[in-house]
Amino acid sequence: MGAGLSGLACAITLENYGITPSIFEKQSKVGDRFVNGEALLNIFTRPVHDGIASLSDQYGIYLKPTSNIEKMLIFSKNKNAIIEAQLGYTNIRGREQDSFESQLSSQVKASIQFNSEKTYEQLLNSYTHVVLATGDAEYAKQTRNFREDLTVSIKGATVEGSFDRFTVMTWIDYDLAPYGYGYLIPYSEHEANIVLAIPDIPMNQQVTTGQLWDSFYNKVRAELIQDLPVTDQFQITNYIMGICSSPRMGNTFYIGNCFSSMMPFMGFGQYAALLTGVYAAYDLCGLGNYEQLTMPLRQSYENSLVLRRSMEQLDNEDLDRIIHLLNGYWGNKLFQTKTLNPLRLISYLLRPYIKIKQGVTS
Ligand SMILES: Cc1cc2nc3c(=O)[nH]c(=O)nc-3n(C[C@H](O)[C@H](O)[C@H](O)COP(=O)(O)OP(=O)(O)OC[C@H]3O[C@@H](n4cnc5c(N)ncnc54)[C@H](O)[C@@H]3O)c2cc1C
Repeated sequence: MGAGLSGLACAITLENYGITPSIFEKQSKVGDRFVNGEALLNIFTRPVHDGIASLSDQYGIYLKPTSNIEKMLIFSKNKNAIIEAQLGYTNIRGREQDSFESQLSSQVKASIQFNSEKTYEQLLNSYTHVVLATGDAEYAKQTRNFREDLTVSIKGATVEGSFDRFTVMTWIDYDLAPYGYGYLIPYSEHEANIVLAIPDIPMNQQVTTGQLWDSFYNKVRAELIQDLPVTDQFQITNYIMGICSSPRMGNTFYIGNCFSSMMPFMGFGQYAALLTGVYAAYDLCGLGNYEQLTMPLRQSYENSLVLRRSMEQLDNEDLDRIIHLLNGYWGNKLFQTKTLNPLRLISYLLRPYIKIKQGVTS
């Protein structure tokens, strides 16, 4: 149920092992939603060093990203860090012809039943198994199988200008994005996606992405010294982040955002979504146990949640210190390490600092 990243990865894998799935999609075509730029950062797929290569070599899922990322510029209020390494990939999502979901749908042999109004209950009555891949927590919540951790409000725009397609930029400055972040991902040399993500936490009760947007947009324009006219935009309120308690209940599999949302720390979820699709198919084909296969993804979600909560303890001065530290040797080392799991490492490094801060404030 759902022909997005996880549902299509599941369908491709089932077909690779000789099972023909029935695929139901609510929209009239694959990716019929807003267009946005996303990234697959190697630092977030450890121990895998190249998510795109691993998806094809290990799982038979072939994806062509928009570009590789050679440079990341990170801005805090008063400092910046330049990380230069093979950091991962950028890709397009949504209704574009070369979006990840469009690429996946061309690898599926079964026909997709579009404009589906079938409910989960109807599907469960008609089929031996249902794979829930609707991209949201609605059904997981209805079956009381979901722990909601927080919600985030997101505003994004497509802008025209001149961009280096190998460089992504991110702003972790709480004046611009309190306890959240903003970023720029190029689609090409002429178009990019800029996005502002603000957690809906009590400290942010008085702010909205709409109010913050103008300052963020102006900051990006000032940094790039360009006008960046907006050609398209989207807004999402209260995007749920959380994780299901049981990845499989009876004959229902929860995959993609139905398993766990994008990572609470910086919003990455594509790789996990694709893997959950593959793993559910493995279970259905008798090649593994879905619950066990998803254990590392659950752990990585929990690590990411620690980092998100840590971010809520920081202020702009702390962020300046961290970004200053990331500039140069340590940043490059952290983003390139192949032996350590940086998510776990960063959360470990932050813990004493957070404890000191909590000691100071209590
Ligand atoms: C603004 C934004 C930026 C992001 N940036 C990044 C990033 O840079 N890197 C990253 O790794 N992740 C990113 N993510 C997260 C990533 O997009 C998700 O983790 C991923 O798309 C989840 O895949 P999915 O298969 O669960 O859902 P989707 O790919 O969204 O697919 C869900 C599908 O189900 C269909 N559907 C919904 N309801 C029904 C129904 N009732 N019946 C049938 N079909 C239904 C939908 O129409 C859709 O086609 C971002 C998310 C957002 C919102």
